[in-house]
Amino acid sequence: MAVNFKVKEDPQMQVTRQMVEKMSGEKTSTCFQCEKCSNGCPMTFAMDISPHQVMHLIQLGSVDKVIDSDTIWVCASCETCTTRCPNNIDIAHVMDTLRQLSVKKGVKASQKVAPVFHQVFLGNVKALGRMHELSMAVLFSLKAGGIKGLLGQSTFGLKMLRKGKMKLLPERFSSGKQVRNIFCETESENR
Ligand code: SF4
Ligand code: SF4
Repeated sequence: MAVNFKVKEDPQMQVTRQMVEKMSGEKTSTCFQCEKCSNGCPMTFAMDISPHQVMHLIQLGSVDKVIDSDTIWVCASCETCTTRCPNNIDIAHVMDTLRQLSVKKGVKASQKVAPVFHQVFLGNVKALGRMHELSMAVLFSLKAGGIKGLLGQSTFGLKMLRKGKMKLLPERFSSGKQVRNIFCETESENR
C-alpha cells in the first residue's frame, strides 16, 4: 500500500498525538528520527510504514494513516526497536496501543486475522488469568476460518494434545482475579 505523507495542518493533530501518548504512556514527541528502530526491525520487509515513520506520523497527529496501515498488525512485538531507541521510547508498546485504537475505532485491518487473534488472545487471558492454548486455538480457528478453519486445524491440534504440548483444561491460577482487575481498570481508563 503506497502511503501519502502529505499532512494537512489541523488543530486536532496535537490532540490526537497527546491521546496516543496518554494511552501508551510513551513520549513519542521526543523521537528525533534516528531510524535505529527501523534499522533493527525484523519485520520492515512486510510493513508499509517503517517504525520511525510511524513515530513521525504520530508527531504530526496523523494517527488515522497509522491505524489504517499493515504495519501495526505485522509488528511481531519483539521489542527490538524498544531496546534500540536512544530516547527510551517503548515503540513496541506504542504499536500495541495503535492496534487497540484501531480496534476501538472499528478500522478494517488489512491483515484480517491479526485483529481476530489480538481479540481472542486478550479475551482468553482476561477470562482465565493466563493463556490456555487449546481454548485459544479453537476460538481463533472458528472466528478466523469458521467450521472449515477449525476442522483444518483439528488434526494438528489433536497431535499436540496427544504429545502433551497443550493441556485439555485450563490450569487454576491464583492471581486470576488480579489479572481481571487489571483489564477492568485499563478498559475504564480508555473509555
Ligand atoms: S516490536 Fe514490532 S516494530 Fe519493533 S522491532 Fe519488533 S516487529 Fe519491529
Ligand atoms: S529509535 Fe527512537 S528516536 Fe530513533 S527513530 Fe526510532 S523512535 Fe525515534
